[in-house]
Amino acid sequence: MALVQLKNVSLKYHTLEGEITALESINLSVEPEEFVSIVGPSGCGKSTLLSLVAGLLQPTTGEILIGGEPVRGPSAKVGYMLQQDYLYEWRTILDNALLGLEIRGTKTPETVAEVKQMLQDYGLGGFESYYPHQLSGGMRQRVALIRTLAIQPEVLLLDEPFSALDYQNRLAVGEEVVRILRERRKTVIMVTHDIPEAVSMANRVIVMTPRPGTIQSEHRIAMSSAGLTPLQTREHPAFRKYFTAIWKELNVYA
Ligand code: ADP
Ligand code: MG
Repeated sequence: MALVQLKNVSLKYHTLEGEITALESINLSVEPEEFVSIVGPSGCGKSTLLSLVAGLLQPTTGEILIGGEPVRGPSAKVGYMLQQDYLYEWRTILDNALLGLEIRGTKTPETVAEVKQMLQDYGLGGFESYYPHQLSGGMRQRVALIRTLAIQPEVLLLDEPFSALDYQNRLAVGEEVVRILRERRKTVIMVTHDIPEAVSMANRVIVMTPRPGTIQSEHRIAMSSAGLTPLQTREHPAFRKYFTAIWKELNVYA
């Protein structure tokens, strides 16, 4: 069964100027352990879609199910990671990584030990007592990911998670993140405006229309499903084909 289901979802924002239909008739199912990327023009409702899955917004019509259960509000089943890493500069790396557990009141010796182990496994061993400003952008983003993983979400929502990083770092961190998420068998929905990033990381790329956002097309990416890493996918002969097809769809609006 699909882990995440959006059934005929639409969302209208009510503003002083009137209603804005951000999303219309969205039907989307995400399978367990699937990595879905969403690309689309700016303002087409990508972040809105993630906020709906996160339970931060309620749909105007339709419904959203996670594990068959309707989403009624934020829950520990869903981890949300944004473009800005939102690390607190006055907290150490360890204390930043523990923040989600503290907020949920699930900080125990066991969960703290797990977080320390993740820091160790993901190249941050020895940095526990450092402060965010002492780390590179890529390392900071890994701390944010560990903080999100600490609450053991089934679904991870990533909203342009690498756009604050330079190109070199984006490639390296993307490679890392995919390795970590596959190891942990997470289900992922990632929004990005970077087509190569979307294709290299995902099992499936969803292309959206301009506002009101609807699903225009979807592309199954053979490489990641065959176990290739993002860098290997970028070097695969079929990569350009996917890129060009998606780029053409998006450039109809440019
Ligand atoms: P994207 O992430 O694809 O750039 P968003 O989901 O942020 O798009 O926004 C979709 C549309 O909804 C945009 O036109 C945006 O201006 C509008 N919008 C987003 N948030 C609000 C809000 N809180 N109130 C009113 N309009 C909003
Ligand atoms: Mg956005």
